[in-house]
Formats: sequence, C-alpha cells, structure tokens
Amino acid sequence: MSFKDLGLSAEILRALDQQGYSEPTPIQQQAIPVILQGKDILAGAQTGTGKTAGFTLPMLELLHEHAQGKGHRPVRALVLTPTRELAAQVGESVKQYGQYLPLRSTVIFGGVKINPQIDKLRHGVDILVATPGRLLDHAQQRTVDLSHVEFLVLDEADRMLDMGFIHDIKRVIKLLPKDRQNLLFSATYSQKIKQLASGLLHNPEMIEVARQNTAAETVDQVVYKVDKSRKRELLSQLIGTNNWQQVLVFTRTKHGANRLAQQLDKDGLTAAAIHGNKSQGARTKALAGFKAGDIRVLVATDIAARGLDIDQLPHVVNFELPNVPEDYVHRIGRTGRAGNEGEALSLICVDELGLLKDIEKLLKRQIPEQNMPGYEVDPSIKPEPIQNGKGGGGNRSRRGGGGGNGRKPTRSGGGSRQGGQSAQTTNDAPQKKRRRRRRKPTNGGGNVAR
Ligand code: AMP
Repeated sequence: MSFKDLGLSAEILRALDQQGYSEPTPIQQQAIPVILQGKDILAGAQTGTGKTAGFTLPMLELLHEHAQGKGHRPVRALVLTPTRELAAQVGESVKQYGQYLPLRSTVIFGGVKINPQIDKLRHGVDILVATPGRLLDHAQQRTVDLSHVEFLVLDEADRMLDMGFIHDIKRVIKLLPKDRQNLLFSATYSQKIKQLASGLLHNPEMIEVARQNTAAETVDQVVYKVDKSRKRELLSQLIGTNNWQQVLVFTRTKHGANRLAQQLDKDGLTAAAIHGNKSQGARTKALAGFKAGDIRVLVATDIAARGLDIDQLPHVVNFELPNVPEDYVHRIGRTGRAGNEGEALSLICVDELGLLKDIEKLLKRQIPEQNMPGYEVDPSIKPEPIQNGKGGGGNRSRRGGGGGNGRKPTRSGGGSRQGGQSAQTTNDAPQKKRRRRRRKPTNGGGNVAR
C-alpha cells in the first residue's frame, strides 16, 4: 500500500516524499482511512510507530479539503500532548507534512514567554499543538479561541492521565464545540483511559498496532546485574569500550540524573541532564547538543524523555529501572524507531529484581542477561527498598515524596517491595506550580488580551 492509495493530496504526498517515507506504517494504514471518513478513533500505538503522521496527515487533508475563507482564522484542530518536548516534536511534524499546504500551525507550551505565543495566535492558526496547562492559561486570558475546533487529538493520553492532567483535559473539552472529531492515542489501556474514551469518543473505531504493551521488536534488550555502587563505573566502561557515541540514559529521579551527568563528565564523557527542573532553554540546548553529537550521553528522567525523537538513536541505557513497568516500554521505544535497529540495556542491582520481574511479566518474556567480567555482584549485599528522590540510596529526606499531587501511587506489581509512593518522584510535570499560577487573578486584566 502506498500513501497515494490512501487518497492524500499531491501537496501532502510531495512532503512525504521529501521526508523519504516510501510507504505508510501499520498505524498509518489503519488510522488514515478511518479518520478521513470522519470517525472518532481510539488507537493503541506507541511512540515510534509513526502515529504522529497517522493523525496529522488525514487531519491536514480534511482541513485542506474544507478550507475556510481568508480573514479570521480560529483554531480548527487541537492536539494536546503531555510534555513540551512532544508538543515541539508534533508541531515540527505538522509543519513538515503540511509545508505545501496553505495551513498555519503553532505550538504552545509552558516554561517559555507567553507573548510570542499570543502574537502567533492572534495572526490566526489552523492547527494548534499544546500542552494542557499553557493552553488553559491562554484560554483564561482569552488569547485563544477554541470554539471552532473540528478535531481534537489527545496524544499519549495514558501519559497525560499519569501526569495528573485529567482535570485540565476536561476543562479544555468544555471549551470545544460538541460536534467535532476526536482522536485518542495511548500506548496502554488502563481503566482511566477507558473511562476517558467512553466519555469522549462517539462510536470510535478501535485501532491497535503491535500487541499492547510489547516493546518494539527491533530493539535488542539485555540486562546486566551489577551492584548499585558500581553502576556508574560499568556504564562508563560500556560506553568507552564499545565506543558508543550517542547514548540516552534513564534515571529515576532528577537529582540522580544531575549527579550521573556530572560524574560521567568527570569520567571524560560529555554528558548533560534533561528533566523537568531544567528551564526550557536548557532542555532544548541539551537536546540540540545531543542530536548534533556534541553531547555523547544524555541523562533523562522518564517525563523529560517523552516525545524525544532522535533519528536512529542506537543505545538506550536504563541506569535505574522505572517504578512503573510501562515506562520501560516507553523508554526503550526511544531506540529502534521506524524499523531501525536499537539496543536497550538495563543495569540492575539487587534492589531492582522485583521491578525487573514486573517488566518481564508485562513483556511476557524474559530479558536475556549478560555479564561483564570484573563486575560480578556481591551476594552479601541485601536488597533495600528503593528510596525516593535520592537515587544513591541512604535514608535521608524524601523531598516531597509523599507528594499529594493528585497522582495515585504506582501500581507496580502489588508487592510491598517498593513502597507505594516511590513513583511520585518520577513525575517532574510542573503541575502544582501551574495550578497555583492559574488561580491568581490575571494581573488586573488590563494589558493581556485584546
Ligand atoms: P512517531 O511514532 O510518530 O513518533 O514516529 C516515529 C518516527 O517514524 C519518526 O521519526 C517519523 O519521522 C518516522 N516515520 C513516520 N512515518 C513514517 C513512514 N511512513 N516511513 C518511515 N518513517 C516514518
């Protein structure tokens, strides 16, 4: 099947040609015809499957076919994403795929100045890609008009719910016209996703690519068992001896990411950390440096890494396993994208054996183990509960681990091993701060919206 068979316009085909896409991926083959028919969809698809083009292409096609007159251009398609990085990524794809169409798009997210966004919105935008918090800021200031939205896309909806965005999403939906097409994408189906879907979608077509929760098959997965205190040393050695030039490394916490990046730097490996406490500028710079090859190791937390799309990223390392098994699937989905080969390697200490078991249960298979001579585990070390906030163990402060940020505790495996609240610290979404900000009256109201 070709893109042409799907009935896309010449302008879109030209852009795809330029991207070098020869044929639609499975999600694109399934989603595009259904969306073109005007139906709602509920799609189970991970990042890396080509889902962005799966919803963007038919949306561009329909928006183009039903072009509006000149003059005032209200937003006609709204794409909500959980993270700034994913919003930027989707926004870039929309621009690329729509480059030969007379449609305008923009991206809005928090952490950057609002005024340039207001300017763009004022000039008229057909397709708006946004994170929920900043979108609501705009809605409150009346700098965005959502009353003409024809398409709503919730991208990585499972992640948005995990990050506590459900109330924001509901608030956004209230601002939209009832008559619209809804496209919901999620890598996993939880009870909450099903609830959201049933309240949002009308007779949705269910689309599923690859088995739910399976890791990208092109990714080679392997685990190394190693003592916690020797993980960094082993990581440096693996990078050095294999001469890896571009490695994405995951830690559980922001603090852990910072510390590891600093230590690797000291080992002579250029490294940077990327997480929710970094300014948008710092995150963009680190990512650009990594893509350009100036930074060899990018250390990231789960949330920050969502939406990172780096072509042919060859190596992903789990320096620490995530508390939520699904996050493992998301993490390793950073490599082996769109048919490229990739390798995902996990360094596992005795504390993490339970987490590994949960992940293998989800994958429905065992991950093969490899050993590095000289790093044999010390059998006298007893497992300890995984500490929040401080990746390196110790029983000091839990830095707000008890949270109260509206997220439910992790559902990892049901055992008592990790303690329910450990997932809290992986959530570096700045939702608390945002809510507080929004509640403040808008600055006397004088000079914001016109
Ligand atoms: P996504 O799942 O949307 O994040 O896309 C994953 C990657 O696949 C991105 O780098 C896209 O540029 C790429 N991609 C999307 N569709 C195709 C296609 N039909 N052929 C080749 N690559 C694609």
